[in-house]
Amino acid sequence: MSFQVFGLPVSRGVAIGRAVLVASSRIDVAHYFVDETRVDAEVARLRVARDAVAGELSLLKRDLPAEAPGELAALLDVHLMLLHDDSLTGATKQWIHERHYNAEWALSAQLEVLARQFDEMEDDYLRERKADLEQVVERLLRALARGPGASFAAAPAVGARDFGGEEPLVLVANDIAPADMLQFKGSVFTGFVTDVGGKTSHTAIVARSMDIPAVVGAREASRIIRQDDWVIIDGDNGIVIVNPSPIVLEEYRFRQRQSELERERLSRLRHTPAVTLDGERIELLANIELPVDAKSALESGALGVGLFRSEFLFMNRGGELPGEDEQFEAYRAAVEAMNGLPVTIRTVDIGADKPLERMSVNELRHEHALNPALGLRAIRWSLSEPGMFRQQLRAILRASAYGKVRMLFPMVAHLSEVKLTLEALAKAKQQLTDAGRAFVDVEIGAMIEVPAAALVLPIFLRHFDFVSIGTNDLIQYTLAIDRADEAVSHLYDPWHPAVLGLIASTIQQARNAGKHVSVCGEMAGDPAFTELLLGMGLRSFSMHPAQIASIKQRILRTDARRCATVLPELLASDDPELRSRSAEVGGASRLIAGGR
Ligand code: PEP
Ligand code: MG
Repeated sequence: MSFQVFGLPVSRGVAIGRAVLVASSRIDVAHYFVDETRVDAEVARLRVARDAVAGELSLLKRDLPAEAPGELAALLDVHLMLLHDDSLTGATKQWIHERHYNAEWALSAQLEVLARQFDEMEDDYLRERKADLEQVVERLLRALARGPGASFAAAPAVGARDFGGEEPLVLVANDIAPADMLQFKGSVFTGFVTDVGGKTSHTAIVARSMDIPAVVGAREASRIIRQDDWVIIDGDNGIVIVNPSPIVLEEYRFRQRQSELERERLSRLRHTPAVTLDGERIELLANIELPVDAKSALESGALGVGLFRSEFLFMNRGGELPGEDEQFEAYRAAVEAMNGLPVTIRTVDIGADKPLERMSVNELRHEHALNPALGLRAIRWSLSEPGMFRQQLRAILRASAYGKVRMLFPMVAHLSEVKLTLEALAKAKQQLTDAGRAFVDVEIGAMIEVPAAALVLPIFLRHFDFVSIGTNDLIQYTLAIDRADEAVSHLYDPWHPAVLGLIASTIQQARNAGKHVSVCGEMAGDPAFTELLLGMGLRSFSMHPAQIASIKQRILRTDARRCATVLPELLASDDPELRSRSAEVGGASRLIAGGR
């Protein structure tokens, strides 16, 4: 039966593929294809793992102390029975044979199928056996990791092998943590759907940086879509169509081809300078998460990196944070890859929906902090860990000896934070000087992403060389809307006059003070806002590399002076209808065109 699920569009385009359901807790299982010649060996790996687990369970049973309750032996029997049941290992083999999934992936795919069957059982006792099944699979996964061929299984490139002739796959999950999303970069998946998340949640941001269609906040998607269902992800409209009819499928295949052609056409703008019709030269920069992303930044024609989200180096490391040398190597790699173009490295923005360790949004919300977005995150976290902070500052400073580096501090709101940050920087420089390490006196900037910072901007401008407006958080904090919460996503409104007023005044004041100002939030990469931001006087935009060409196309067709003329009307408008309508049909362009 065909049906649709609605969510939030976060990454454009159309993906069509078979659904791969992955539970959040099993997201770190390696996903890759094995080629024809390795299929038998992969099945053998599974067999060896199964025999090892059978041995483990039998030993456990044999060694049960005499006083152990009888239920324990019975439970081990259930586990042994599940282990040998054809619906687990037999069907897993089938995934390997037919789909060429690696053993771990095949096993977790089959677990999703069986877990759902258990969920649907009427009988309480049988339904509760799902936990046993999960334990057996956990044991099998551990045995696979220990067994022969495990090093191949643990290969870091998740699904890097492209298995020609296979059907395309799309990932469906309740939630994917931002750091986990990152591991799917360059993977086998051609699209993503998650039940939770807002449009500018970090999971959505990473999905967008991968430039493949994605829908988040699709609520029940992972519950009602089944393993292997055919799925269309309409990333432009936030629609997921499950088991589409042949006519719908044909229509979407057509749209898919159109959007590929459009991308190809846009990519020809790579070397074209971004200049408006009235001759204003615009700087287009890239947002990156890891040093390897510098490659796509360069390929997109970016004039530098406007935001390197360094926190991704710190996530999912089992409590062990990267030391100064490791960080230095990462920053240096990005700086060298950019061939002399500027790289703006933001100090860690840990916290809120980017925890150090893997956690789902629900865990974050309900188990760890009442309001993580208002808690110890970004510069607050860094200042609470002075040793770690100085280590990062030294690592960034050392990278400055290899190219043009700028340093950016997230979420600064208090003058006391500015002072402490500058003191930490001075100390880090002194330590490097004492140690005879080379570094350059880098430019420093503040992210303007808390309304308080925007409202006291002149004070901030005295201390910083540049500012970068983080619209994602600025909207969140101005409107009191959790950006990761799909339940309030309809109120997350970049067109709100309070938001526009803060952005416009920040740009204006920075320009008046002769300080460089950029926007690095998602608004910079959304063509709906290009004319508006140009009208506000913005001349530097930082975004995912994949967005650069379409923003450039907008810029080439825009007269910035005209946009500035109609800006007061837009900012003064008290007609919310007009604003939201203009947002729907391509943003300010409507208003601006109307004002001509
Ligand atoms: C922002 O808040 O707009 C921003 C660019 O930072 P992040 O999305 O990483 O919070
Ligand atoms: Mg931010």
